[in-house]
Amino acid sequence: MSSTLTSTFRRQARGSADLVVKNAKLLLESGIAHGGIGVVNGKIVIIARDEHLPEAGTVIDAEGNILMPGLIDAHAHIHDPNRLEHETFTTGSKAAVAGGVTTFVDMPLTNQVDTIKAVEEKISQGEEMSVADFTFYAGMMNSENHVAIPLLAERGVAAFKAFTCKPFQTNNGVIVKCLSEVSEIGGHLTIHAEDQGVLDEFASEMDDNWDAPISHSLARPNIAEQLAIHQCINIAEKTGGHLHIAHVTTREGIQEVERGRLHGVMVTTEVCPHHLVFYRDDMNRLGPKSKMNPPLRTKEDRAALWSALLRGAIDIVVSDHAPCPIEMKEAGSEDIREAWSGVDGIQMILRVLMSEGINKARLSYSRLLRICSRNPARLFGLYPKKGVLRIGADADFVVIDQNKEERITADMMESKCGWTLYEGLTMKGAPVMTFIRGVQVFDKGIVTVRPGLGRFQAMGTGDRQTGD
Ligand SMILES: [Zn+2]
Repeated sequence: MSSTLTSTFRRQARGSADLVVKNAKLLLESGIAHGGIGVVNGKIVIIARDEHLPEAGTVIDAEGNILMPGLIDAHAHIHDPNRLEHETFTTGSKAAVAGGVTTFVDMPLTNQVDTIKAVEEKISQGEEMSVADFTFYAGMMNSENHVAIPLLAERGVAAFKAFTCKPFQTNNGVIVKCLSEVSEIGGHLTIHAEDQGVLDEFASEMDDNWDAPISHSLARPNIAEQLAIHQCINIAEKTGGHLHIAHVTTREGIQEVERGRLHGVMVTTEVCPHHLVFYRDDMNRLGPKSKMNPPLRTKEDRAALWSALLRGAIDIVVSDHAPCPIEMKEAGSEDIREAWSGVDGIQMILRVLMSEGINKARLSYSRLLRICSRNPARLFGLYPKKGVLRIGADADFVVIDQNKEERITADMMESKCGWTLYEGLTMKGAPVMTFIRGVQVFDKGIVTVRPGLGRFQAMGTGDRQTGD
C-alpha cells in the first residue's frame, strides 16, 4: 500500500476527514441513497448516512440536492496550439467545471497528436493550464501514423480518431489497420462517420442556394451517416477492434449501431446536447451559429436520439465542444459554407440533460449516471478511479439543484468564444457545486480555483464495454 493510502486509512480510522458533504441524494451505481461522503487526500473514504459521517475540516450541506460523480466529457476540442483563439486548456476547463464536468477528453482539431513528443507536450500544457482533469485522443489517424498506436497506448493515450469525410478524410485501409491494432492492444477507434461521396453529390445539387443556413443540413443527408457507419461496422466485424461512432444524429445511424451489436460487433456510440435540443428548422432562426458537423437533423431524428439514449442504444453524451471567435460564424451570414462548423457545449451537457431529460421525464437518474459518468469512465479505461461514487475513487463530484431555473446567456459562459448557441433558453436543473479530487472548483456560478489543478489521466486498455 502506498504511503498516501496508508495515511488516508489511518486518518479515516481516527474518524476525521478533510471534507464531508452531507444531506445529499447520492447517485450510486445501486440507486439513490440519502446521506453524504467523506474525503481524505482527494479520495472518497466513506459513503454513509449523515449520522455516520466523520468530523471534517470542511463540512458542506448539500441541502437535499443530487450529488453525482463528476461528468466525463469524452469528446471536446479544448486546446489546439494552432487555434488558441478558439479555446484553451484554461478557458475550456473553466467551462467544464461550470458544467459539472470534472474530466474531459480533448480531441485534436488541426494539430496532430500522434507522437510521444506531441503527447508529452500536451500533458505538460494541460497540467499547467487546466482547472479540470483531462486526457486526450490521438489523431487524426492516417496511413503513416497508425503504426504509433501501440506506443501511444502504452503512454496512456489509447483512443484514436479518424474521419470518413473531409477535412481529415482517411481511407478504409487506414480504418482496417487502426481497428486491427486496437483489437490487439485494447483502446478504441472513433470515427466521424459521413460518406464523402454522398456529401459531394448532394452539395453539387444545391446550386447557389447557400444563403439559408438550413442548406448546410440539406446538403448532408441522413444516408451519408448511415452508409459510413455501416461500412465501419463491417470493418469492425472483420477486425474485431472496438469501434466508437462519434456524435450519432440519425434514426438510420442508430439502427446500424444496434444491428452491429446484435451481430456481436464491439461498437459504441455517443450523442451531443445540441442534437438533443435543436433541429433542422431552427437553423434559419439561429443563423450560422447553428452550423456543425454532422448537422442538425429533423424533429423525428431528435426524438429517435432521446429514445435511443433512454433504452441504452447510445452509450454516452459528449459535448463535441468546438466554438470559435464570433467573426468566424458571422463570415457565413451570406453563404453558410463560409461559417466555422462547431458550437459550444461543455458547460451545457448537464443542463440539457436535466432540463430536457430528467425534468421532462425523458431520462432517469440511473441513465444520467451511466451516460455522463460511469460509461465514459469505462469506455476510456478510467473506471473505477473516475465515473463512480465508491470508496477509493477520486472525489470528483457535482451537486445539482434539480429545480434551479436559469436563463442561458453568453455572460454566464466561461468559454473563450463569448457566445452560446443556447442564448435565451430557460433551463431547469443546474450544477451548483463541482469538486475535483476533493477540491471545490465551482461554487454557485463562480469558478473557484486557479489553473494547474488538472492532472493527465492515463487510459487503461482493459475492458472497454460500457455494459449498457
Ligand atoms: Zn468533434
